[in-house]
Amino acid sequence: MKHLLSLILAVWLTQPLAAQVRGEVQIPNLNGFVTLKCDFHIHTVFSDGNVWPTVRIAEAYREGLDAISITDHIEYRPHNEDINADHNRSFDIAAPIAKAAGIILIKGSEITRAMPPGHSNALFLTDSNPLDQQEYMDAFEAAKQQNAFIFWNHPGWDAQQPDTTLWWPEHTKLLEQGMMMGMEVVNGTEYFPEAHQWCLDKKLTMLGNSDVHDPIQAQFDFANGAHRTMTLVFAKEATQEGIREALFAGRTAVYNEEVLVGEERYLKELFENALDITVEKRGNSVRITVKNNSDLVFHLKKTQHDTRLVYFRNYTIVPQGTHVITVRLQEGIQGGDMNFNVENLLVQPNQGMNYTIKI
Ligand SMILES: [Zn+2]
Ligand SMILES: [Zn+2]
Repeated sequence: MKHLLSLILAVWLTQPLAAQVRGEVQIPNLNGFVTLKCDFHIHTVFSDGNVWPTVRIAEAYREGLDAISITDHIEYRPHNEDINADHNRSFDIAAPIAKAAGIILIKGSEITRAMPPGHSNALFLTDSNPLDQQEYMDAFEAAKQQNAFIFWNHPGWDAQQPDTTLWWPEHTKLLEQGMMMGMEVVNGTEYFPEAHQWCLDKKLTMLGNSDVHDPIQAQFDFANGAHRTMTLVFAKEATQEGIREALFAGRTAVYNEEVLVGEERYLKELFENALDITVEKRGNSVRITVKNNSDLVFHLKKTQHDTRLVYFRNYTIVPQGTHVITVRLQEGIQGGDMNFNVENLLVQPNQGMNYTIKI
């Protein structure tokens, strides 16, 4: 076994250098929690994907991810004339490479059913095979018996919900029986505002995943600075157990293109931890220096305020940038509230986060 591992490591290390460069995405930690970059919805040739499992590890490494789950479909395996293996095989092939690369690989599967209840992923499985069942409830039961974290995938997928995104009685049943702990608020780059609202109302964990089937670069334009859709997990420690605890506790946010989706308490802390803000008064103007230490962009838009405080209408804080913002104080006022909305931090469906800098 030791010999095999060192052989695998040797193969890994002799891959072309470009394949080994890890891109680090700078997203701040929260107070007391480490921010882990995760993708919990990925396919390989062992279901309907077009990529070998080890390639998924190399992709995750290059993109600076901390954890992934390969979630091949249980019920849909169009390559099975050529690739005929059990439901654990994609995990087993990827696991030693993940270990060598320092990527946390979580065993998962996609329970793939017509609507309702649609598709769901089960994470932290020990054995995927018992999920292969005739009746969907038996598949969910098998996942629950393994203490899986189960979430509803792409609730607004138009192939299954063509007109509107509906919550079905079957979902109430899954929720009540402890077989649904979260849902995808973003799948690929598609955002589901209804799912966002359900997560807030029903205290479900928000997830955003790539659901990648082809090589990842076919879906995201990395050459132009794109990143894959990911779930940010705010964990007590960077381990599988740490991720598990955080997912069950609902400590996540979703990072999709320039947008973050999540509970206000987490997005507010991310915003504050990303920025160093200093305020200097100079007579009847105020100079605010904002240094962004993250790779996140923030789009600010002025909201209702004392009009004697004169500042921008729209302002963009660029990744890793330093900005000087001048605020004028008119009619002898000594200060006030600089109110704005951070439009790309969604704390309610399609609504940004309000924020105030006190002057
Ligand atoms: Zn698929
Ligand atoms: Zn699916």
